[in-house]
Amino acid sequence: MPTDFHDVIVAGAGPVGLFLACELRLAGVSVLVLETMREPRSPLKELPFGLRGLTIPTVESLDRRDLLNALKASATSRDMSAAAHWLGQERRPGGHFAGIPFFHDQIDGAQWPHRLPGPIGSVATDMASIEAVLARRAGLLGAVIRRGCGVETFDPSDAGVTVRAGGETFTGHWLVGCDGGRSTVRKAADIGFAGTDPEFTGYSAQVVLDDPAALRPGRHYTPAGMYTYAVSGMLAMVDFDGGAFHRTEPTRTHVETVLRRISGADVTVAALVRATTWTDRACQATDYRRGRVLLAGDAAHVHAPLGGQGLNLGLGDAMNLGWKLAATIRGDGPGDLLDSYARERHPVAAQVLDWSRAQVALMRPSPSSRALEAIVRDLVGTRDGATYFAERVWGTGLRHDLGGPDPQVGRNVPDFELADGSRANEHLRAGRGLLLDFEANDALRLLAGRWGDRIAYVAQDCRERLGMTSLLIRPDGVIAWASRTTPDPEEAARTATRWFGEPDPPGSLTRRGGPTGSVWRRGWDSNPR
Ligand SMILES: Cc1cc2nc3c(=O)[nH]c(=O)nc-3n(C[C@H](O)[C@H](O)[C@H](O)COP(=O)(O)OP(=O)(O)OC[C@H]3O[C@@H](n4cnc5c(N)ncnc54)[C@H](O)[C@@H]3O)c2cc1C
Repeated sequence: MPTDFHDVIVAGAGPVGLFLACELRLAGVSVLVLETMREPRSPLKELPFGLRGLTIPTVESLDRRDLLNALKASATSRDMSAAAHWLGQERRPGGHFAGIPFFHDQIDGAQWPHRLPGPIGSVATDMASIEAVLARRAGLLGAVIRRGCGVETFDPSDAGVTVRAGGETFTGHWLVGCDGGRSTVRKAADIGFAGTDPEFTGYSAQVVLDDPAALRPGRHYTPAGMYTYAVSGMLAMVDFDGGAFHRTEPTRTHVETVLRRISGADVTVAALVRATTWTDRACQATDYRRGRVLLAGDAAHVHAPLGGQGLNLGLGDAMNLGWKLAATIRGDGPGDLLDSYARERHPVAAQVLDWSRAQVALMRPSPSSRALEAIVRDLVGTRDGATYFAERVWGTGLRHDLGGPDPQVGRNVPDFELADGSRANEHLRAGRGLLLDFEANDALRLLAGRWGDRIAYVAQDCRERLGMTSLLIRPDGVIAWASRTTPDPEEAARTATRWFGEPDPPGSLTRRGGPTGSVWRRGWDSNPR
């Protein structure tokens, strides 16, 4: 076996590739990340262009890996649950749908009985901070990151994948394409990318206007499109040109022409500091896996950045895929575990794509769209309406279909405050499964022990149980099994086998290593398809 052999080669050191690398290393498999760009820094990743909103599932995932504090510590991050930012504003905005805002004071948290009461913890940050925090963690965990080494081609076989990148050859058991919307890996794997063509070119631009008073601040629908303008000089425009201008370098005169047409105002752009374009093309990979090649993040799905969900979606992919791929490589997971990645994540992305298409329908410069907008605005203004839109935008309704009757199964575990002062999320930081037992049931303790270090066991009561007595939680924080009465250990054991594979043989010493250890394997060639 060549010395540069890695369990997993990840194409792309964007946020998704880096987070996946962290997850894989945490689970003890070796990772090489290959990235085209030599230099991670870019003005488009910094504020104001790089601004990104992280939704609740993402914030919870980062907390489960002790990455949230590092991110919040970065100078540009803002905790959106902290009221301080909204002092002086009449109402605290919670998000929007096609520019129609909803507000925190409208949200009826009682409609989310699966969540603990408390502030909604979304975070605003920028791409540069996210990538820096994740790259640092990936490096500390032992992932190798090669920059200036973009994947050109690869050659899959039954045993692994040979990758050509930056004029060199690398080999691994698996290749994961986290190489963005124009993914080389997806194309080379001949995986389809199905969806809808763009209707518009979107512009984000930082401008200096001759007369700033000539343009009304705020968001405006006009007969020619939509624009938002902030007095800071940040401009966003949507021009329904069928996406014709996307990927062309916007000049000052071009931005001025589009702005005049859309706004109807006689404005002069004195200087264009920076500009970038995007579209509402909404496409999704027809499969997330072909043999030993997998896709995650924008490589698997693209859509308009309206309401900002793409990054959250991609980080969710990484959290879902990492532990499953690692268990498959180690050989201690069930044989079909990896199939559940696409089964769970494909529908989540499909919903987000439709969410962005619905917003586009509302934004079209047509009388019927304006009429529709007025109706949706009325609905968003109601308590039930605002709660519905918040649930979709914040991701509080996220639930993977794992089967089983309990409404909590398939959701992210609430961050229970345990009697010893610890929190549920802290017990997931090692990236293992967790059997959380509020009633210290002996049968459950014995059961968890049968899976060795694959499942940690914590017996602690907690402040608010949400009606449960015990839960089995996957390494990604998703509840796999929950009991609300005296638990049935057989039922729990069946669920443990489903997600963690067969229990350890009696008397065996399992050492799967950790980020610094070597991987215990039953056979790394398991599960090719
Ligand atoms: C204007 C705008 C605003 C947005 N706002 C939000 C928001 O608020 N919230 C949100 O959730 N999302 C938002 N998004 C979407 C979000 O930025 C993306 O979904 C996210 O960056 C996807 O991450 P990724 O790692 O999958 O891909 P990318 O960030 O595209 O990273 C891919 C990486 O792969 C590298 N690469 C490409 N080809 C190769 C190759 N052949 N070999 C090796 N490396 C390669 C690239 O250089 C890059 O570093 C926004 C997008 C835009 C355009």
